[in-house]
Amino acid sequence: MKAMTLQEITSLNKNLTPLSFEEMEEPKTNKGEVLLRVTRCGVCHTELDEIEGRTPPAQLPVILGHQVVGIVEEGENKGQRVGVAWIASACGKCKHCLAGNENLCSDFKATGRDVDGGYAEYMKVRADFVHPIPDAFSDSEAAPLLCAGAIGYRSLRLSNIQDGQNLGLMGFGGSNHLVLKLARHKYPNAKIFVFSRNSNEREFALSLGAAWAGGIDQSPLEGLEAVIDTTPVWGPVSEALKVLSPGGRLVINAIRKEESDKEVLTNLDYPSQLWMEKEIKSVANVTRQDVREFLQLAADANIKPEFQEYDLKDANRALLEMKQGNIRGAKVLTIQ
Ligand SMILES: [Zn+2]
Ligand SMILES: [Zn+2]
Repeated sequence: MKAMTLQEITSLNKNLTPLSFEEMEEPKTNKGEVLLRVTRCGVCHTELDEIEGRTPPAQLPVILGHQVVGIVEEGENKGQRVGVAWIASACGKCKHCLAGNENLCSDFKATGRDVDGGYAEYMKVRADFVHPIPDAFSDSEAAPLLCAGAIGYRSLRLSNIQDGQNLGLMGFGGSNHLVLKLARHKYPNAKIFVFSRNSNEREFALSLGAAWAGGIDQSPLEGLEAVIDTTPVWGPVSEALKVLSPGGRLVINAIRKEESDKEVLTNLDYPSQLWMEKEIKSVANVTRQDVREFLQLAADANIKPEFQEYDLKDANRALLEMKQGNIRGAKVLTIQ
């Protein structure tokens, strides 16, 4: 089969082609696993964190990719169209798993990091960790829903936002553009404020119904009850804390932050940025329930991602464009 593999941790600033296009053997399944013929795989910002070593793969080489759509070729429910998300497995026995928080399991295994993912023609996956794809979606539409959408759904839930309140979105890529669509559906009277460094993204946000769009350090002149930050750096965290209302909550939807501008944290002003019971909460991984609930909700509400397609062998170009912040919606690899 053909696959794009990561051989070593590297920096996209120096190495523009971190993944290599290779011919390799199809994976052999074990008991309880299914083999998928992959048709599409979404490209996620987390792949940059893996390549650059902020959340390094368990072993190398590895096949990245955790927004996988494919057809079951071998194993349970052969012929069914399914998706695979970031959660490849969890122990099922620890207190977090038993409490319904398998995303917090210390034995959490991530697709395309701890086990091979979907930047390939075939992948194997545990049969109980695949998700049927509703008929409403094409394969390319479904792929970005599996991470960008599912974790956006979890972020929106953790934001505690209520209808009629003001919601801020810091960064406007694959995940937050779906959060905007979801929030407009669930909370039709909430006003949505989008902060982005990129004017194309700001226009895109307004076209999708944002009440306001501005730069990261601009003030919308209204307090926000919640902000969801999907950016890879710290400046937006500091800015978000300034625009939060008393009692407001900042939700950071990022698996890692880069170190480049971390010094902004030493300049935090307690009275204006943290006092008045402002909260900061991170989002970690997703549960299978998040993925399945979101897929159903998106199908019912006709929430579909905007996306651009790339050939599998052009995965490096897709990653580089993501790194450069050249984003309009989600990026999807077409595989077969
Ligand atoms: Zn992801
Ligand atoms: Zn567990």
